[in-house]
Amino acid sequence: LYSFKKRVTSEKHDYAVSHLDARTEQKVDSVLALMRVNEKIGQLVQYSGKWDATGPSSSNGDQHKLDKLKNGEVGSMLNIASVATIRETQKIVMEHSRLKIPLIFGYDVIHGYKTIFPIPLGESASWDLDIIKQTAAIAAKETAASGIHWTFAPMIDVSRDARWGRIMEGAGEDTYLNTVIGVARIQGFQGNDLSSTSTIAACAKHFAGYGFAEAGRDYNTVNIGEYELHNTILPPFKAAAEAGVATFMNSFNDIDGIPSTGNKVLQRDILKRDWGWNGFVVSDWGSIGEMIAHGYAKDKKQASEIALNAGSDMDMESYAYEAHLETLLKENKITMAQLDDAVKRVLRLKFQLGLFDDPYKYCNEEREKNDVYTKEHLAIARDGAKKSIVLLKNETKLLPISKSIKSIAVIGPLANDKDAPLGNWRAKGTYNSAVSLLEGVKNAVGKTTKVYYEKGAELTIPTVKPGENQFLHPLKFNDTDTSGIPAAVEAAKKAEVVLLAIGEDAFQTGEGRSQTNIGFFGVQQQLLEAVYKVNKNVVIVLMNGRPMDISWAAKNIPSILECWFLGSESGNAIADVLFGDYNPSGKLPVSFPHNVGQEPLYYNQKNTGRPYSPSHVTYSGYIDAPKTALYPFGFGLSYTTFEYKNLKLDKKEIAKNGEIKLSVEVSNTGTRDGEEVIQLYIRDLFGSLTRPIKELKDFKKIMIKAGETKTVNFIINAEKLQFYTINKKWEVEPGDFNVWVGGDSNAKLKATFSVTE
Ligand code: BGC
Repeated sequence: LYSFKKRVTSEKHDYAVSHLDARTEQKVDSVLALMRVNEKIGQLVQYSGKWDATGPSSSNGDQHKLDKLKNGEVGSMLNIASVATIRETQKIVMEHSRLKIPLIFGYDVIHGYKTIFPIPLGESASWDLDIIKQTAAIAAKETAASGIHWTFAPMIDVSRDARWGRIMEGAGEDTYLNTVIGVARIQGFQGNDLSSTSTIAACAKHFAGYGFAEAGRDYNTVNIGEYELHNTILPPFKAAAEAGVATFMNSFNDIDGIPSTGNKVLQRDILKRDWGWNGFVVSDWGSIGEMIAHGYAKDKKQASEIALNAGSDMDMESYAYEAHLETLLKENKITMAQLDDAVKRVLRLKFQLGLFDDPYKYCNEEREKNDVYTKEHLAIARDGAKKSIVLLKNETKLLPISKSIKSIAVIGPLANDKDAPLGNWRAKGTYNSAVSLLEGVKNAVGKTTKVYYEKGAELTIPTVKPGENQFLHPLKFNDTDTSGIPAAVEAAKKAEVVLLAIGEDAFQTGEGRSQTNIGFFGVQQQLLEAVYKVNKNVVIVLMNGRPMDISWAAKNIPSILECWFLGSESGNAIADVLFGDYNPSGKLPVSFPHNVGQEPLYYNQKNTGRPYSPSHVTYSGYIDAPKTALYPFGFGLSYTTFEYKNLKLDKKEIAKNGEIKLSVEVSNTGTRDGEEVIQLYIRDLFGSLTRPIKELKDFKKIMIKAGETKTVNFIINAEKLQFYTINKKWEVEPGDFNVWVGGDSNAKLKATFSVTE
């Protein structure tokens, strides 16, 4: 019972794909009945494919995999991404194995396959569930056209620490936003029919708590209490299960001493029993074996025993289940019922995908060639990208820029970068294939506009060859070479407006990419200050995968446009906003701090006993920095202005199951039409547990014409008031509540109401 339900109820039948269907169950049982123990275990084994389109090589590791495939002792492969190789690999199973149970192929399709969309954190700034669903649907179509059945997305880990490199992969710091966006992504990937060759199975990850790694250090331990787990981290996962997500992935971290992979309460009790979910759980890469390093299992055999008992169904790359489950079965350390249950979950999805009818049904070279990176897909990429941009500052109204401006300087290490906008986790996005900012600007302006370009400085010093996968390589920054700055200064002097593209390298965020410094790396700050010294009309075009420390810029530079890594159409989308073809409507899904020392920083922390009154607000924080954000959660400007007034509740008191109708008037008080994200926050003033100072509970994104006033309605009911209480149940507790409506998490327009027994 979460508020997202309202949004999906009408579509529920369409999207509920993991419900049990009697005919499928019969088929699953009939296959299971034929299976030998080694074949059952095989279904729980997932290997990473190393070979290319020429087929498996015969190096040692591959020989092992090849033998296992032939014996029907592999259930799934990941990291193979071409029709030819998938066909080749599937054929091994079909031609050699006894039961010919098709493989399911998985791949990390995080924000597009060939057509690249904004990184998930950036796209979440759109607060636009329709576009999010659309981009996921296109990602699915392109992925499926390449023979792949399954993506390891969406990541729905609530993440509140800008230092954590993987903050780029999710919807940011808020539980509700992660919930509704996660559901939209799942609906986009899976569509209303998993057996269609245009959709793929999704995976809710990482279950659970990975985003709360201590101090934002990737793979670090997590320490949170049971109530916080239920109230903050689990709701997006419960919503994912209810939306029929096909699979879950568990996580590398432990919580309070128990690794997720070995956590029976999470996987068996909560996910499978309480939520009644029928999909399968894949381990994270090697996470079964990693329980040894955690000090939770003494060897792989014990790790397998713990993991299977805890409800981890598929072993991704630990080589643990294949080696030990059979012995564990003989020793009664695991049961046949447990094994069968895990196998049935895997078979069920293979039936739902239609792979038993035709194991090659996704393999179609024509589609692989023609259904990716199409004009239509790129048009949606541009739409999604422009909606993801957040206008952080526009003090002197430099923006929007007139297209007939005489001269413009496009400067910065990221200004003509055609690769960085693809971000990390870019699947099969082609190296250097994005529209750069410079290209976007040139596409937009008329012939009379003089466009100067200077790189100004290198951000990084290459450590790999251009186009080579940077995923595992360390980054090296240019901390010394300032030789390009004078030319940049000259260009800045000549131009009416400077667009300065700075921020992060695409690989500063993503897995294993946590940082203690979230400011401008290399000589970017020097470049910024040198340019600003000669031309005050600077617009920072920020490209980044995490909230950054931009406090100097926020104080000094008149305009700042948050552009994340926007994908294939980056430059065109940014130009749409810069030149006013699109009025920016994005809102931050994460708080921007004044400095890194404030992290983890999020808008809905709890009050403590101190400060005693609002005038002491800084006392409970730091003596050298504010307690609040530089740019708060939910914040984002427009080229127009919005005013909120007449917040009305139809009742001041309701019973626990009652309902309040709330209305508010929102006026566009500027001269341009614009979209506004109207946000509803609620505070439960006291409870059986301490409560956050406010929580986002609903929002609406609507277009309001210049001069127009719209009345916006919300319903406040049990879904929005309940929480996981001291009774370990989702309940509404009687008492007093505050409600605010506004354009960001500092919304001032407030009303109060109470709930009676
Ligand atoms: C990541 C997962 C990813 C998997 C497969 C792991 O290291 O944590 O998110 O899906 O690798 O690539």
